[in-house]
Order: sequence, then C-alpha cells, then structure tokens
Amino acid sequence: MIFTTSLTNCLSTPDALGFVNAPSLATFDVRSPSTGLLLASLPDMDLGILRATIDKAAVAQKEWAGRPAAERSDIMRRWCNLIIAQVHDLSAVLTAEMGKPLPESRSELLHAAAYVEWYAEEAKRIYGETFPAPSRDKRMLVIKQPIGVVGAITPWNFPASMVARKVAPALAVGCSVVLKPAEQTPLVALALHTLAQRAGFPDGVFNLILAAKGNAVGKELCTNTKVRKISFTGSTEVGRLLMRQCAEHIKKISLELGGSAPFIVFDDADLDAAIEGAMQAKFRNAGQTCVSANRIYIQDGIYDRFAEKLTEKVRKLSVGDGVTPGVAIGPMIDARSIKKLKSHVDDAITKGARLLCGGNRHGKSGTFFEPTVISNVRRDMLVACDETFGPVAPLIRFSTVEDVIEQANDTIYGLAAYFYANDLKKVWHVAEALEYGMVGINTGRMSSEAAPFGGMKQSGMGREGSRHGADDYLEMKYLCFGNL
Ligand code: NAP
Repeated sequence: MIFTTSLTNCLSTPDALGFVNAPSLATFDVRSPSTGLLLASLPDMDLGILRATIDKAAVAQKEWAGRPAAERSDIMRRWCNLIIAQVHDLSAVLTAEMGKPLPESRSELLHAAAYVEWYAEEAKRIYGETFPAPSRDKRMLVIKQPIGVVGAITPWNFPASMVARKVAPALAVGCSVVLKPAEQTPLVALALHTLAQRAGFPDGVFNLILAAKGNAVGKELCTNTKVRKISFTGSTEVGRLLMRQCAEHIKKISLELGGSAPFIVFDDADLDAAIEGAMQAKFRNAGQTCVSANRIYIQDGIYDRFAEKLTEKVRKLSVGDGVTPGVAIGPMIDARSIKKLKSHVDDAITKGARLLCGGNRHGKSGTFFEPTVISNVRRDMLVACDETFGPVAPLIRFSTVEDVIEQANDTIYGLAAYFYANDLKKVWHVAEALEYGMVGINTGRMSSEAAPFGGMKQSGMGREGSRHGADDYLEMKYLCFGNL
C-alpha cells in the first residue's frame, strides 16, 4: 500500500489490515478527481480474503453480541471522539479523494461522528415488549437480537457519513460488519476503520474489504450464508441486482437508492428563503447527492423573479479544487458524469429550454462542470426525468397545486421532496400528497442522525438514523412461556 500524499496521520498501516500476508495481491489506484494525482495504491482483495473475513466476522459477532450494551456503547463513544479529534486530517483525506470543498468534508465528518454518537446512546435502548397473553397459564414477550454478520456497500458521494450510517447502528446492537467502500473513495473509510480499531473494537467485529470492483464482492456478500443482512447505498440499478442475488437465501436487505427530488416553490412562499433552500438542495456536494433537488417547480406568479434571483446567485459560485478557500463547487467524480451532464443540458436546449447560465465543462483539466440554470424545462426532457447528479438546476413552470403534485409524483423514485409555502392548509395537503420518504417544508436541508432517512418506491427500503435505523439490524423474537 503506497500513500503518495502526506495525509497519513489517521490511515492504517498495511499490517493493521493484515495485507502483509498477501504480498501477491493486485492493486488499484486512488486518484484525486481535481488534479488526477495518484493518492494511494491499495490492495485489490480477492474472494479468498473476503471469505476468510466473513468467517472471522461470524465468530467475532457472537462474543460482541454477548457484551453488555454499555460496554459496546463506550467503545462507540471512543470512536466518535477519535473522529472528532482527527476531523482536520480526515477532511483533507475526504477532499483529496472525492473533491468536495473542505468545509463540506468537515461537515460530513461531523455528521458521521453524530451518527456514531447517536447509536452509542441507542445501544442502551434496544427495548423488547411484553403483552397480555390470551390465557391464564401463559406469558408472552418479544426480545430483539442482533441479526448477525452484516455486509455493507457504500458509494463515493458521501464516503464518510454513508459508512457511519450503516456501521454505527449495526455495531451498536451487536452485529459485526464487513464493509466494502466505493473504489473511488476508500481512503476515508480506511481512516474511519483505523480509528475504530484504536477505539477498541475487538478483532473481527468491524472489517474492511478493499476492491477495485464491487460486483464480485457484492455477489459473495449476498450469497454467503454466514452473512445475514445486506445494507447498500448506491444506484437503483445495482440495488435491484443485489436484491435479486439476496433472493436465493431470502437474505434481508436494506437499500438506499437513487432519487429525483422535486423542489416546489408556491406563490405564497418566502422567495429569499426558497432561493437559499434551492442553493443548498441543488448545489451542495456539486449536486452529487441522492436528495439533490432534481426538478425545480416554480408557480406562475413568482417564476420570473425566482429564475432571475437564482441565476444571479449561481453565477457567483466559484468552481475548483476543494482544497482552495472559497470554492463552492468541486469536481464531478469522473469523466462519465461530465458526459451525462452535458447530454442532459444539450437535450433540454434542443427541445426548447433556455440556458440562463453555465451549461459546459469548466476548465481544461479535471472533471469540473459549470453551475447551470435552465428555464422553460418540460417533463419530457432528460433533465426532468433522469437523475442528473450534478450542478444543473432545471426550472419548470406550474400553475395549480394538483398539477404540481401530479408532476412531482410522476417518477419511479420516492426519496426526498421539498416545498416552500406558507398557507397552512396547503402545507398539510401537499406534505401528505407527496409520495416521498422525506419531505422538507420551507427547508432545503433535512438529513439528521435524529431522523429516519430513506425512500419509498424504487428509492429503496429501510431507514437510516433515529431509533428506526437500529431496527434494520435486529431480529424480533417472540417468547411464549406456557404451563405457568
Ligand atoms: P453505484 O454504481 O451503485 O455504486 C455504489 C456502490 O456499489 C459502490 O461501492 C460500488 O463499488 C458498488 N457496486 C457497483 N456495482 C456493484 C455490484 N454489481 N455489486 C455490488 N456492489 C456494486 O452508485 P454510485 O454511482 O457510486 O452512487 C451514486 C448513486 O447512489 C446515485 O444513484 C445516488 O442517488 C445513490 N445514493 C443514494 C443514497 C441514499 O441514501 N438513498 C445516498 C447516496 C447515494 P465500486 O465502485 O467499487 O464498483
């Protein structure tokens, strides 16, 4: 394992991950999307290593689950404190491999730490239930038990918080974990894993698999009978494949998948607040978020003013390497994303939309894209019916409440939706009518460790965060005492 950056303070040594015993492994490179520079060359672990890791996790899980919850909680809290103490170095690692601006990396890492803290607390509150039995000689109750070994697969866009959202609840309730981070962003996962070891998790409880491609690892995790649960965040396409692979053994699976969030602004909204919310919901992480505002619906009465004000703000966004102070929009993760963004913009323009700003690749090197606003967008344009996943804001005009609800729900996705309005009756009506797992009302940002994050329809199943997030890693067992 070679690290070509100086960002090694919180990263593992090869010995810590047991690589020294496998010197013949192939390697894969991790490069900065901003500069193309080589950051690290990591071992591409094979199926032999994965199977041995699963075996180890299965043994370790039994001992871990048997520990008092308070003991598990203490280790988790130490892990949280280590993440906070190292937030500066961790942010540098995250920005180097993923590209997002340093302040966003810092905010993501503190968010990751908040999940670890939340589940350190929740570990002590895994309550069962008792209920009245239908006959005199019986007593009935339910206990909750950890599901076993969890296989977790995470994406590149939030390489720290996605890890914490899965690993923290799983470990808190007594599961062990085998984690496979995305090929483009394994370094911050490696660092979090190292800090977890330092916090005192026993050997085999939290395991990391590094691999250049997810497909073989995913198949093994789904079909190996020692793995009892899969938790995946990524595209709907890969989620569907994993679900099929899990079907053979009826393996439990949680899925956090793609989205196409509508962002609706009604005539009675506070316009400045709506602009601020749109900037957050659309341009955070350069639009590379699953809850990103993908379709911005503006009511007739304020459409022109909204378009003008938004464009004014978007023109001022500075694009560049995430380490440069003042940069708001980092690089896209790869050249494929640039191609997709350009094709979405060109398709809209060809079909009659109007470009208000941006629309092209930014600069000559790196994978940067200009922050873009397009008006007069219609639902038949790619930008309004596909997940764009970049800094492109398509503006769609609407006139009535029922019309916009119909358009907003006209998608296979159901992850996040946002709307701005002040009339209380309308607010309740729209909040209930939107077919989404999460609805932001007069806010452009809603992710929190205290709340259940997850989607309806083809955006997935299961929830992460809050007390509900622990349920995904627990089995419910009914105990019936007779002859009393
Ligand atoms: P992706 O292609 O589905 O990849 C996600 C992860 O799956 C990566 O670790 C990848 O590993 C792995 N993977 C790819 N093919 C696999 C296979 N056949 N079997 C097992 N694992 C496989 O998604 P992405 O493009 O990286 O991420 C963006 C997508 O994630 C967007 O659709 C976004 O909306 C969604 N997302 C959803 C949420 C949510 O909470 N709902 C949060 C963040 C992102 P390799 O890269 O190493 O192959």
